[in-house]
Amino acid sequence: MIKLFTSSDPFLLQSVKSELDALSIPYLVKNEFAGGAMGELPWQESQPELWLIDESWSTRANKVVNSLMDSHEPAEKFPWVCGHCNEPNGEAFDTCWKCGESRP
Ligand SMILES: [Zn+2]
Repeated sequence: MIKLFTSSDPFLLQSVKSELDALSIPYLVKNEFAGGAMGELPWQESQPELWLIDESWSTRANKVVNSLMDSHEPAEKFPWVCGHCNEPNGEAFDTCWKCGESRP
């Protein structure tokens, strides 16, 4: 059995599961309901994990995950980084919010 995928995003996890279901790829989910324990466990340990029961599916399953990750990728939160102080800045800023340096 091999670990395919880990995400704290329940919607992404659900998307992967439904794709795997659609392709009849056998999997199981660990920590699916660990969200309730957040605050007691380090977040890494409470993330749901998707495991492939049969690793011969791994190539196909990884393609599913990768294509979902690509389409799911949220808009870049910090599209530029200040050349002066290395602070990440939002799209709306034309100058660094922290030090006032112009956007490169
Ligand atoms: Zn700056």
